[in-house]
Amino acid sequence: MELTLRWAERSKKHFEEHKHEVPWATEVTTQPDATQALFGIVQGGMDHTLRKESAERTIKIGFPGYAIGGLSVGEPRALTREVVESTLEHLPADQPRYLMGVGTPEEIVEYAGLGVDMMDCVLPTRAARHGLLFTSEGKISIKQARYAGDSGPLDPNCGCRVCQRYSRAYLRHLYASNEVLAQILNTVHNLSFYLDTMRAVRHSIKLGEAARFPSVVWSQPKP
Ligand SMILES: [Zn+2]
Repeated sequence: MELTLRWAERSKKHFEEHKHEVPWATEVTTQPDATQALFGIVQGGMDHTLRKESAERTIKIGFPGYAIGGLSVGEPRALTREVVESTLEHLPADQPRYLMGVGTPEEIVEYAGLGVDMMDCVLPTRAARHGLLFTSEGKISIKQARYAGDSGPLDPNCGCRVCQRYSRAYLRHLYASNEVLAQILNTVHNLSFYLDTMRAVRHSIKLGEAARFPSVVWSQPKP
């Protein structure tokens, strides 16, 4: 935690001195002040007191948004949730709050409901490369032989270009043949599913119906 706080000080100082040197800052926008945003990262492990102290001292340094780090590193999910909840209490609600390393579609919906604005995770792309696909009907392991003759779309409720064009059988064939295209198409679908999930979350927030957050189906691969 102390190391991260020292880094936060040094990063902010360096960023403020050099932020306008980012080459693309003026190329892609006509706003001369446009640049990147530097967030502070809250640490403190699973210790609520340290999390509070880390949040307060990071806020004191001052950033446009705050990240919750050091979670989703193998600890039980109930503990992740507990620490996220207690840390969120100490972070300003009117600035972006970013939970690092989370998570499944189900967790994304859950944490957005708690007040997390941003998340990032390798899961949708890594799972895709291993043939694990998130769908509105649950998680699918496309490598299974049961899909060899399945001419239906991967997810009948998905509008992505993979589900619109290709069958489960074709995706399974690509995977079984070790075609790199399998990784590409699976990734396109999984990312699309995640984007749809977040779109539904944003829609619920706009409607003021947080209680009716989209229910995301999460199940183990069918036996
Ligand atoms: Zn799709």
